[in-house]
Amino acid sequence: MKILVYNAGSSSLKFGVFDMNIEDSRVFKGEFEGFHDGACTLHYRMGGEQAPSLKRTECLNTIDEAIMRVPHVLSEFGFADFDAVGHRVAHGGQHLHSPTLIDAQVLKQIEACTALAPMHNPANLKAMTASRELWPDVPQVAVFDTAFHHTIPDRAYTYAIPKAWRDKGVRRYGFHGTSHKYVGLRVARELKSPVTELQIISCHLGNGASLCAINRGFSIDTSMGMTPLEGLVMGTRSGDVDPGMLTYLARELGLGMEEIERQLYANSGLKALAGSHDLRAVEQKAAEGDSDAQLAINVYAYRVRKYIGAYAAAMGGLDVIAFTGGIGENSASMRRRICDKFEFLGLHLDDDKNQSVKLTGFEAPQVQGFDSRIKVIVTQTCEQLMIAQEVNHLLAQREQVAPKKWHVPVAVSARHAHLSQQTVETLFGKGHQLKKLRDLTQTEGWAAEETVSVIGPKGSFKTVRVLGPTREHTQIEVSKTDTFTLGVEAPVRPSGKLQGTPKVKLRGTAGEIETNGLIIAARHIHMSPADAVRMGLKDGDYVDVKVGQGDRGVSLANTLIRVKEGYTTEMHIDTDEANAAGIAIQTQGELVTNETRGEADILGRKNMELNGSKVA
Ligand code: ADP
Repeated sequence: MKILVYNAGSSSLKFGVFDMNIEDSRVFKGEFEGFHDGACTLHYRMGGEQAPSLKRTECLNTIDEAIMRVPHVLSEFGFADFDAVGHRVAHGGQHLHSPTLIDAQVLKQIEACTALAPMHNPANLKAMTASRELWPDVPQVAVFDTAFHHTIPDRAYTYAIPKAWRDKGVRRYGFHGTSHKYVGLRVARELKSPVTELQIISCHLGNGASLCAINRGFSIDTSMGMTPLEGLVMGTRSGDVDPGMLTYLARELGLGMEEIERQLYANSGLKALAGSHDLRAVEQKAAEGDSDAQLAINVYAYRVRKYIGAYAAAMGGLDVIAFTGGIGENSASMRRRICDKFEFLGLHLDDDKNQSVKLTGFEAPQVQGFDSRIKVIVTQTCEQLMIAQEVNHLLAQREQVAPKKWHVPVAVSARHAHLSQQTVETLFGKGHQLKKLRDLTQTEGWAAEETVSVIGPKGSFKTVRVLGPTREHTQIEVSKTDTFTLGVEAPVRPSGKLQGTPKVKLRGTAGEIETNGLIIAARHIHMSPADAVRMGLKDGDYVDVKVGQGDRGVSLANTLIRVKEGYTTEMHIDTDEANAAGIAIQTQGELVTNETRGEADILGRKNMELNGSKVA
């Protein structure tokens, strides 16, 4: 499978050819940039990562002309036929959040998102239109920069603004998603750990810059918002400003809104603070004593540090800080400035390792000291490679025959508690053993006669059923609504993943104990190994499940498959989910292979691939 990838920006056009059948799959890399006086520079590299980079001048005025020039350049190097074309698209809005085959309807949808990314979507659209004209019979796929952030929870993407504005799609979307996704997977491969076990902050620091909190494989927050203007200080963009400033500027300086926007996009950031958008020039000036340049560097690093601190808190933990983008990859001193203040979290940089980073390919060196709890990794961002992989995956999926419809029984779990033996003895007396009241469908567990009170800072539940047998750690499972009754914030977690969970008080007949372990159980399907084989699923997969009837029918995304010998196939949802779907106690759910499944699949699959030796 040979895939051409277009990455059209506001001032440059990057493109690449990937042969998905070979190990170092990038076989050609090109970039038109520096459009000036009827000419631009073409940087190109024929062959894999280690091949030499070359450049030459081309007589082209605009990105549009460059787009049309791509097939000529490629045919000069012997590339004429492609199996697919992938396009990076900046903004997919609320509805386009997985790789999508481009047709007239999709182009219209992308056009409708232009207002949200006015500097980027038009260039992407031009590349898509031109490429469809050039290769009308080749499948063309749009891969959205916003897509990876589709998993950000509502508390992180909601602006506290009037509902009428929010209803118009004014919310945070996030960008650089392809880059952050690649970085997450590359880090996991480097650490030989599943991405679903890691808490990573990915720092993409280029001309545009953003941070992403990747919590166990999923983006849960990112610094760019509704537009690529929010967040960090960038080359020419301001990042975060007080929105009150806009009306002040309009009122006091008489500036129009468009002028303010233009200044914030094109004349702010490093350029405004230090006279150059290029950090190399700013660092040079700072070293020569220029106080503006020194301030610019301090403001830049401080903003990144603030976001790292915030995202460590948002995830409730941090394993890795990863740097990418021109600044993240190349500026050892910026990495040092950013990392220095995190000694209190147990982060120690190794100066020699940090300074000797020189990336030549897909490598991802670790630059933390031997005693550092947090790992620091530097890696190239390979957005184009990631796009090619997404395209490959989508087309492979298309070739599969339509999946059979599988149904699973769905049961509603009321709030309950699993206790450790130590907790049992504190709550019910020394030497107390839980007594079985009745069996449950999953034969490894049973309902105990004992109940406990669960007490939070705001409210409590009096008779919460205890499930036996005892476990190593106490775990209390409630619904999201229950957490508001208790007055605590609990994460949605698979059973047993209790790190960073909130504390509540449990009271039994003989005593009470304060314990962590309160979770909103991630919806899951217990599945027998035989059913897993039949349905083509494996432990750790995610599926969507349709439940409920008629106007109360809902699709429950991100349902975790748990396969174990002895399990009876059954989906467990909590009372909130059941209420939303109008389910009383039990029902049937229909498994659907859809985008969410594809997304989870690709994360898992890529991680396995990357953990092997596929990528050099
Ligand atoms: P884009 O977002 O346009 O892809 P890049 O990822 O290429 O941008 O990053 C460009 C930024 O990287 C510029 O600010 C440039 O100064 C910075 N940069 C590149 N090399 C170095 C270096 N050796 N030291 C410091 N900054 C560098």
